[in-house]
Amino acid sequence: MLISLSNLNRIKAHAKATFPEECCGLLIGNFEEENAIRRNIVRYVAPCVNRLRGDRTQGFEIAADQRYDIEMAAKEYGMSIVGTYHSHTLFGAFPSASDCDATPSLQTMLIVAVNMGVIEEVRAFCKNIDRDISEEQIQFLF
Ligand SMILES: [Zn+2]
Repeated sequence: MLISLSNLNRIKAHAKATFPEECCGLLIGNFEEENAIRRNIVRYVAPCVNRLRGDRTQGFEIAADQRYDIEMAAKEYGMSIVGTYHSHTLFGAFPSASDCDATPSLQTMLIVAVNMGVIEEVRAFCKNIDRDISEEQIQFLF
């Protein structure tokens, strides 16, 4: 997946701001395909409110109406939702079982690990059409 440093910094700032609760948001852009390899290109970051009813230090939920509004706005610019981002505040930047279930195929799942307000690492994962999860390389867009 490709993302600009400024957008990645926006995500990190969001993760710090909501600590110890998980932050969440949508990744907007498009994708390119080369030699049957698909790469999501993030053009915009849309921070969302964590609407999880329960312990928001342990999970997140993006409200359907907020997702819909962002999706419609992206469409107007010929883009779509290419992934989500969220933070982990207790364990590392690896997807939980529920993260793996929730992420749609072919979308990037960016996870920021933040500990005591400090960003530890950022990793990206993607579920293929066979529903297998693998790590995606984060490349910078200039
Ligand atoms: Zn998670």
